[in-house]
Amino acid sequence: MSIEKFGGIFTPTCDICGEELDGGFDFYDAVQAKKTAGWKSRKTNGEWEDVCVTCQEDE
Ligand SMILES: [Zn+2]
Repeated sequence: MSIEKFGGIFTPTCDICGEELDGGFDFYDAVQAKKTAGWKSRKTNGEWEDVCVTCQEDE
């Protein structure tokens, strides 16, 4: 799962284009923020990927 932690802030990051959602969350809030934004989490080659709405539309 690509939620990066910068100085105590969890930042959801799209694994395709690098888009980031606003940080300031704890880990649970970051997961919720992704769901609210319509991002999808999927497993590819054993690694979790997060995909933003724009990239979902492009596929
Ligand atoms: Zn994206």
